[in-house]
Amino acid sequence: MLLHDHLDGGLRPRTVVELAESTGYQGLPTTDVDELGRWFTAAADSGSLESYLETFAHTCGVMQTEEALVRVAAECAEDLADDGVVYAEVRYAPELFVERGLSLDTVIEAVQAGFAEGERRAAERGRRIRMVTLLCAMRQHARAHEIAELAVRYRDSGVGGFDIAGPEAGFPPTRNLDAFEYLRTSNAHFTIHAGEAFGLASIWEAIQHCGAERLGHGVRIVDDITEDADGLHLGRLAAYIRDTRIPLEVCPSSNVQTGAARSIAEHPIGLLAKLRFRVTVNTDNRLMSGCTVSSEFAALVDAFGYGWADIQWFTINAMKSAFLDFDQRLALINNVIKPGYAELLR
Ligand SMILES: [Zn+2]
Repeated sequence: MLLHDHLDGGLRPRTVVELAESTGYQGLPTTDVDELGRWFTAAADSGSLESYLETFAHTCGVMQTEEALVRVAAECAEDLADDGVVYAEVRYAPELFVERGLSLDTVIEAVQAGFAEGERRAAERGRRIRMVTLLCAMRQHARAHEIAELAVRYRDSGVGGFDIAGPEAGFPPTRNLDAFEYLRTSNAHFTIHAGEAFGLASIWEAIQHCGAERLGHGVRIVDDITEDADGLHLGRLAAYIRDTRIPLEVCPSSNVQTGAARSIAEHPIGLLAKLRFRVTVNTDNRLMSGCTVSSEFAALVDAFGYGWADIQWFTINAMKSAFLDFDQRLALINNVIKPGYAELLR
């Protein structure tokens, strides 16, 4: 189960090198596959926003043709399936892949074709995965309404919802209120990146002004939780989010890399899970963080001593929160996830 994973943050290093060559992209720091893999995690680790953004300049740079998008999407589905993921929502901003003249529709259709191909190849190896797409708009651009319309137009073709990503500073979610209003009146699903670097105000806006169903990260909600001699106290926003079961798409390693958490052991996920928020565990950018769903869980097991029952709880939380029809969510929980964990818990 995976709800928060960026297509342009999950390429195989070898694919970056090969696509750079086939599409004529110049400017990779190295064409040695192993070295490039290490470069991506080091650049994302460096604490500098410029080098973090440079990593995406390279992945997006090699994803400007239909063939490249199909390949990256197919490999994404295969890699997730090989990691044991049975349902994944993978997101990307179509507007980042039109530098060489592709239309937004062509971008979306190429990625959908790639996901279908990846699902098919995984199934051939006995791995069943369901891929669902979330379309992102970038906060700093002014195309949110247009992308929201595309999310609605493609909702019967594998697009499950919408998200807004990019820098939080100076770009509050309320800048795109018209897009969110359009989605709500269209009965469409959306999540919002909020409460990663920025605090409670961005979470409050995303939930109460924009109407987000889930929060991308949302971990700064801990700033609304205090502790005194009587124990832990939730402020009104934290209580609202817990009471209404708003899912938090938590990405532990990514938060450590961007400085939103000091370490996995000190990550707010421990407290939020203890307080029974609807916490889910996600990868964000597998290439930049050098992580998988399994490695994220392994890190949490090390830090917090979680067992299979806890991992099942996070997994069912995620499935309950998916942008998928209720009957299909239930079927995956009852027919795939619970029987799978029953084996592990025996
Ligand atoms: Zn993200």
